[in-house]
Amino acid sequence: MDIANNISEIKNTLPEGVKLVAVSKTKPVEDIMVAYRSGHKIFGENKVQDLVGKYEQLPKDIEWHFIGHLQSNKVKFVAPFISFLHGIDSMKLLKVVNKEAKKNDRVISCLLQFHIAEESTKFGFSIKEAYDLLSSEEINSLQNVEIAGVMGMATYTDNESQIRKEFRGLKNIFNTLKNEYFSGVESFREISMGMSDDYLIAVDEGSTIIRVGSKIFGTRNY
Ligand SMILES: *Cc1c(COP(=O)(O)O)cnc(C)c1O
Repeated sequence: MDIANNISEIKNTLPEGVKLVAVSKTKPVEDIMVAYRSGHKIFGENKVQDLVGKYEQLPKDIEWHFIGHLQSNKVKFVAPFISFLHGIDSMKLLKVVNKEAKKNDRVISCLLQFHIAEESTKFGFSIKEAYDLLSSEEINSLQNVEIAGVMGMATYTDNESQIRKEFRGLKNIFNTLKNEYFSGVESFREISMGMSDDYLIAVDEGSTIIRVGSKIFGTRNY
């Protein structure tokens, strides 16, 4: 794989303002350094232990995104350095993130994960649960987290119209929350959707952050 070339090819297709998270999970630090030396600084991981190991070995100006399901008891390991958490799916988790961010005197950007796919295995809020969370009094006391937007994963399918419909649904959720809870709040602005196989559709439907792994680093061997 020509990692640097893959990144620049993807970036060339992206409209202004859409951010690329290079998903480096399972890949060695050498691969990340190839991307880094070509000028890319934003990477995503989905396992706490791997992420911490890579953080320790790699340059400190990398912007790290945690893209998976984060367990509350592991938040403390990433809180000192993580920029974005993409998979917030409960108030409990959000409160732990706030507590650990505070200990580190930081504010961590959090994306609310929504369940938009047909598959039942993917984590995430329903719109009702998100309303409950955002309407609660507790939410205003969380000074060390910034709710920066929404995240979702489409169904794994070849059916393009279904994928499009799911991404459009997430964009609608974003618009609704923006109107109801974040009107005029500049920091609520991100829609994290789109992976190697569907990022072009996602961008078409209004994605602001795409998370691309195999199309940059090659297929993964687990
Ligand atoms: C692995 C992963 C990606 C990247 O997947 P690719 O298909 O390799 O681009 C994106 N988002 C999440 C949440 C992932 O777990």
